[in-house]
Amino acid sequence: MKDRYDVAVLGMGAMGAAALYQLAKAGVKVIGVDRHHPPHDQGSSHGDTRITRLSVGEGAQYLPIVRNSHRIWRELEALSGESLFEQCGVLVMTSSPDYDANDQTDFTQRTLHLANTYGIEHEVLSAEQIRQRFPQFSPVQDSAVGYFEPGGGYVRPERCIAVQLKLAEERGATLLKGETVTQITSDEQGVTVLTDQRTIRADKVVISAGMWSRDLLGKPFDRLLRVCRQKLFWFELEDNARFAPVSPTFIYYHGGGDAGMSYGFPPLPGEGSLKIGTEQYSEESSPDRLDRTISESEASDMFDTHVRGKIAGVTSRLAKSAVCAYTVTPDSDFIIDEHPTLKHTLVVSACSGHGFKHSAALGEALAQWCVRGRSELDLSAFSLRRFDGLLD
Ligand SMILES: Cc1cc2nc3c(=O)[nH]c(=O)nc-3n(C[C@H](O)[C@H](O)[C@H](O)COP(=O)(O)OP(=O)(O)OC[C@H]3O[C@@H](n4cnc5c(N)ncnc54)[C@H](O)[C@@H]3O)c2cc1C
Repeated sequence: MKDRYDVAVLGMGAMGAAALYQLAKAGVKVIGVDRHHPPHDQGSSHGDTRITRLSVGEGAQYLPIVRNSHRIWRELEALSGESLFEQCGVLVMTSSPDYDANDQTDFTQRTLHLANTYGIEHEVLSAEQIRQRFPQFSPVQDSAVGYFEPGGGYVRPERCIAVQLKLAEERGATLLKGETVTQITSDEQGVTVLTDQRTIRADKVVISAGMWSRDLLGKPFDRLLRVCRQKLFWFELEDNARFAPVSPTFIYYHGGGDAGMSYGFPPLPGEGSLKIGTEQYSEESSPDRLDRTISESEASDMFDTHVRGKIAGVTSRLAKSAVCAYTVTPDSDFIIDEHPTLKHTLVVSACSGHGFKHSAALGEALAQWCVRGRSELDLSAFSLRRFDGLLD
């Protein structure tokens, strides 16, 4: 006997939890399935914090999405009583010997340009102003430039997922945890989902499988998506660390290429450590092959390259570390579209390492897509068709 639902959401991480909540809120008969027990630390949505900001240097097409997310985080906080979105401000800065103020590809310049174009509240900070406001960055070079957005900050990914799943369940959603989807087929009437424990029939399906997407989605995603291992480090602060009482989330460009950028978060209340991470897009991995442990040499490389001489008040003692993965598209933008061969099936989740801040709003948009056939947000920039040339 098959269970029949209006919508099945496959994968209950950042995107899936948001879609489930919004669908249940809209009164849709919805089921979610996850191979793990979200929130968990096996995918792309763990590690305590995720940056959010309105001036999204990745492109103007993301601005309406993150705006909606900021609204929804506050709605979720009011409903749950949980603290999800900390508006401690975001500091994007370039402090590099090669810095060229006319370089429009520089991420800080792109961020500034977008903020000016769309009237996003911000301040431009000189090196001296950065040092005065945020003494932890006192080693910045004299040529450094900073963009400070007071309305940005960080969200708490595990809490956001847990809250949305709980609220979805309270509104009637069925959640299956520890159950793996093994096959998806479709016909004119709907979609059949096979798991390792049952068969589910749904009118529509949302596939939000994160780094497992490539296998679950098949062609042409197997040729488009790459899984890239990412590292997160929490370094203990010095006892007398001069961190401002409210420190910003930061994105710090201090050289060229992947190795010249880091990002990080203020110490969380009650924790005496600074979380810092980097990005890399050159080494590919897969969910099965992902090395989930950080070695001692990776921790010392990280400290030497990104902390020593760049951020004051931080020791090289590692409080904890984590490995996470990006699911990356060829142009590092999202893919959010109907599946080209599976009918009634929407695909989200290839978010190239910058999806969390948008997830609440994408959940809302996906729910509208399922219910009304279209979303209020224009998601056409994330269409699969832009890769047609690559797939010929
Ligand atoms: C280190 C790191 C730092 C990041 N920093 C930021 C940031 O600062 N700001 C930002 O906006 N974004 C950031 N991102 C990106 C963001 O976190 C991700 O884009 C987002 O969390 C991905 O959510 P998801 O739902 O696509 O994937 P996930 O949350 O991983 O969810 C996928 C789910 O699908 C389930 N699943 C997979 N296959 C199956 C199957 N066959 N059957 C059943 N279930 C299945 C998995 O168990 C998992 O729960 C970062 C990502 C990483 C890794």
